[in-house]
Amino acid sequence: MREGSLEAPTRHPLDWHNPEFYDQSKVEQELGRVFDICHGCRRCVNLCTAFPTLFDLVDASSTLEVDGVRKQDYWKVVDQCYLCDMCYMTKCPYVPPHPWNVDFPHLMLRAKAIKFRKGVKLRDRLLSATDALGKLAAIPVVAQSVNAANKNGFARGVLQSVLGVHRDRELPPYTSRKFRSYFEESRSFPVKDGKHAPGKVAIFSTCYVNYNEPGMGHDLLALLEHNEVPYVVVAKEACCGMPKFELGDLEAVDRLKQVNIPVLAKYAGEGYAILTPVPSCTLMFKQELPLMYPDDAGTIAVREAVFDPFEYFVLRKKDGLLKTEFRTPLGKVSYHIPCHSRVQNMGQKTREMLEAIPGTAVTTVERCAGHDGTWGVKSEYFANSMKIGRPVFRQMAEPHPDYVASDCPIAARHIRQGMGDEAQSAVKSHPLSLLRKAYGI
Ligand code: SF4
Ligand code: SF4
Repeated sequence: MREGSLEAPTRHPLDWHNPEFYDQSKVEQELGRVFDICHGCRRCVNLCTAFPTLFDLVDASSTLEVDGVRKQDYWKVVDQCYLCDMCYMTKCPYVPPHPWNVDFPHLMLRAKAIKFRKGVKLRDRLLSATDALGKLAAIPVVAQSVNAANKNGFARGVLQSVLGVHRDRELPPYTSRKFRSYFEESRSFPVKDGKHAPGKVAIFSTCYVNYNEPGMGHDLLALLEHNEVPYVVVAKEACCGMPKFELGDLEAVDRLKQVNIPVLAKYAGEGYAILTPVPSCTLMFKQELPLMYPDDAGTIAVREAVFDPFEYFVLRKKDGLLKTEFRTPLGKVSYHIPCHSRVQNMGQKTREMLEAIPGTAVTTVERCAGHDGTWGVKSEYFANSMKIGRPVFRQMAEPHPDYVASDCPIAARHIRQGMGDEAQSAVKSHPLSLLRKAYGI
């Protein structure tokens, strides 16, 4: 058996309709097989806390092998995985088509799906219901009360003891001016399709932009307007399904897919580029849904039409259809590439755009910050999430930046929190907002 694979990695579709997918004894057998390969390899020891948990279990077992670890302890490893995909993407030489067929994140997902069916905490169901939570919290008076409570020590103590949301985790504010209710309509520019990307855009705004940081969405629209790209905000959207996916609630993912895909597939069919400003949501349409529905024409059409915003801008630049006159230098920018952008296999498009701005020095940090969507919010994982992020916080603080940015707004908040006093006057800003600032619009 050769060490590592020479072919390009592939990913098998998720066999989630097969009853065996949910068979606990089968999954424990597969966990044992893969854990044994990982124990002999240990390349991923510093990626997250899932691997150290596994190796500690093996090292403490009577046999010093995986066969000495109790099956019920396998689940401790599963709990530590937040499905960032980095082990699959950056480390593992045994991913398919290698015959050992190691897809650690998708095995964790299968185990999480079994756990979900057995019942999960109310807290986990609530945190993953981003759309429902957003709708409720964005009601004007409720938004102000939620935001005030998020900053109130007593209320946070209650939130921690009742719901298990760590009291020290800085939470995003809710807006009472939802993006989808208050956006500027596009002016009617002629559609200029390029060789690499379509000349009209449909925006899937995402729950986060709609309910938490609408400014990012408005910045994206301003950038399109400035570059004379006509846009629409998609007629109807639900959560992309990523929070439910990470919880293993695949039936909920299916329900959300039934809402989103027919709408988005129509835009794809009409020749729109679909932009989603949050990397995890983009990844859901580019990778996870197509792996769940490999034979569904709508899902595949959407996959082909979806772009990360900076991927889109760089392609427009390549087509000679992007304005490149910038008025405002940005100074020093510490920029973090989130895992879910890296998994999209598109190269460092945001860095490329930021570096094209004169008077801008970009320090790029390409390492997991350890938050994930909801994992780092939970009381039992908060400390580990800050620990995983520590090297990122340090590297981001080193150049004494003017701006701290990440494509993932949740990671950016976590990084800014972790940098603490070291960041001093560094301003947290999304790359879309920075690009808008640089254009002076
Ligand atoms: S997917 Fe991410 S969190 Fe999960 S085991 Fe791999 S590196 Fe760790
Ligand atoms: S996931 Fe792959 S690279 Fe990582 S420890 Fe396991 S076998 Fe090694």
